[in-house]
Amino acid sequence: MADKIFSKKEWGAALRAAADSYGIYVPVKEGDFHNFELLKKETKPDFDFQNTRLSPKALIQPQSERMFVYSLDDSEEGAHILKEDPKDYSPRAVVGIRPCDALAFQLVNVNFDNPEYRDPWWAGRLESTTTVGLGCNEPCTTCFCTSTGGGPFSEKGLDVLLYDLGEKILARPLTQKGGKFLEKAKGGSPADESDSKAAEQLALSAAEKITSSVPTEHLKEKGVNELFDAPFWDDVAFSCINCGTCTYLCPTCWCFDIQDEVLGKEGDRLRNWDSCMFPLFTYHGSGHNPRDQKFQRVRQRFMHKLKYYVDKYNNGVACVGCGRCVQHCPVNIDIREVCELMNGYG
Ligand code: SF4
Ligand code: SF4
Repeated sequence: MADKIFSKKEWGAALRAAADSYGIYVPVKEGDFHNFELLKKETKPDFDFQNTRLSPKALIQPQSERMFVYSLDDSEEGAHILKEDPKDYSPRAVVGIRPCDALAFQLVNVNFDNPEYRDPWWAGRLESTTTVGLGCNEPCTTCFCTSTGGGPFSEKGLDVLLYDLGEKILARPLTQKGGKFLEKAKGGSPADESDSKAAEQLALSAAEKITSSVPTEHLKEKGVNELFDAPFWDDVAFSCINCGTCTYLCPTCWCFDIQDEVLGKEGDRLRNWDSCMFPLFTYHGSGHNPRDQKFQRVRQRFMHKLKYYVDKYNNGVACVGCGRCVQHCPVNIDIREVCELMNGYG
């Protein structure tokens, strides 16, 4: 599978051609931000962005999804029996996904698809999705992906990696899925040596622009109880307003809640994103809440990402350094500072 080169105009046409075979998701500008949307005739993809405000995790784990339907009408055959709501596993491609967000799918996958448990909906959607990443020429000052196992041109979790060379796009297929996508994205020509050299140079210079780093090397050796009882959690949590922004924007936060909604005699069982930052998240039916204090919820978020995940999966930290929570926390709580506190504690 060889690299292909497209003019920007050819690339736009190539995506339209690929849309005959895939549901294509592209970044689209909405006000001051970009988010992924399905490519339709009237859609204007815009690849001139640093990162989308929301990660594309909703494509694999929808924010709200109907799991099952059921009837409470006793006169109906099959009343009270859950029926799986049909799911869509048709081929999709998310084009312009940043390498950090593609790596996030891999980090989260160990939770949803492992030898003990397999979430068929998560796995089915991930399998049907082709990730066509766009390397970051100009990382944000809040990015720290090189400390968390990735990089602005990391190939992990990607099927194709795109290099924006100014007037041209170089497309590098990384997997069979990626090669198949590029066959459907008609046009372009084989890249020559000068294109490949320009791409390598771009990747090197982008990595040098990452100015932010976090130390993670001691997290694994720390005692869970010591970190849990560390004295800094009150200070870390002091200004938090438990808005949940950090968890909803985060590509590696996966928590959900399951609820039944009934209208008349028809019921839906839904799965919705939830957040450990909300008091209701752990509120028991008995009225007891094991995390009724703010510092406990904030501690949970950081302990999960930087200690429990590290210990359980031996797969690095559950953070890809995308910087979204740093940028958008309304009270400036910064995971880089918390990671430093945890890594250096004791
Ligand atoms: S975004 Fe900031 S204020 Fe909101 S829940 Fe997260 S840490 Fe707290
Ligand atoms: S914790 Fe923050 S920086 Fe890390 S992946 Fe989530 S949003 Fe990005």
